[in-house]
Amino acid sequence: MKKVKKYYIICKNGERRYRDKIYKIGKMAVIIDGKSLAKKTRENLKIECEKLKDKGIIPKLAVIMVGDDPASKVYVRNKSKACDEIGVKYEEYILKDSITQKELIDLIHKLNEDKTVNGILLQSPIPNHLDIDEAFREISSEKDVDGFNPVNIGKLLLNQDTFVSCTPYGIMKMFEEYNIDLEGKNLVIIGRSNIVGKPLMACCLNNHATVTVCHSRTKGLKEKTKNADILIAAIGKSKFVTADMVKEGAVVIDVGINRGEDKKLTGDVDFEEVKKKASYITPVPGGVGPMTIAMLMNNVIKATINQNK
Ligand code: NAD
Repeated sequence: MKKVKKYYIICKNGERRYRDKIYKIGKMAVIIDGKSLAKKTRENLKIECEKLKDKGIIPKLAVIMVGDDPASKVYVRNKSKACDEIGVKYEEYILKDSITQKELIDLIHKLNEDKTVNGILLQSPIPNHLDIDEAFREISSEKDVDGFNPVNIGKLLLNQDTFVSCTPYGIMKMFEEYNIDLEGKNLVIIGRSNIVGKPLMACCLNNHATVTVCHSRTKGLKEKTKNADILIAAIGKSKFVTADMVKEGAVVIDVGINRGEDKKLTGDVDFEEVKKKASYITPVPGGVGPMTIAMLMNNVIKATINQNK
């Protein structure tokens, strides 16, 4: 076996992370461990929460869910567990499918006015007869811990302090933790949704990447992805990103969560093949998903601190 000099960096968590030189001689990508980073983030937030409690302040998150979408139930349960772990009070409002828009907005207004509630989250999807855009707009921008209110999205675009939506924020934290510098990099996002692709575009641009956002009507997708130093997939199609779409040594972030008929979770990236080519890659599960919830908790603590200044 050819002996190679190993180039590595020491991460904040003390682990050694080998850099792209290694990949050129056929090594596997570094797996970005979202699960441990999320755990570490939650531990730090627990300390912040205790400091607030010492001042007599108990952060509270109110979660609204309409209907009984099974995937939403799982997400909501995970959020509730994270609140318990950190010491955030959790209040759940489960509304019937038949609720009217007015009833939904009235509840949001009530929670906006409730001084004991610091963060409000409306779990999507909601039934089609309801207007989710109006609902997000009505959540007070100071309690909008998901970062979906147009005021907060505008602030993000302007690179001002705001609540960054949790999935893009989690990805930024991963880049930071693994010393992945975005400056000047060709960064391609596949997916332009309001909750992932678009806010992610703003975050990456704010961190000086040259960003290309692709979507279902993009022509010549592969040419674009092959040029990406950093490739982020947020599509919702299992194993959509194959190795031939990825540049050698690229950083690959997989946002997708797809449940197969066998109930197994897969991402939007063909992990087994792409990891042979990438320098860094996130797994599914255990990558972006846990970070999303950790950043939600971060936003709840931030909202509480801001409201008690
Ligand atoms: P979405 O359906 O709103 O958007 C999907 C995007 O993919 C669209 O912009 C669409 O144009 C694009 N797309 C679809 N087919 C394409 C194609 N053939 N070529 C190029 N682009 C194509 O989905 P979303 O809400 O952004 O979620 C995307 C995925 O991420 C889903 O699997 C979702 O479950 C997952 N997700 C994960 C987290 C997490 O915490 N890990 C959070 C949010 C969403």
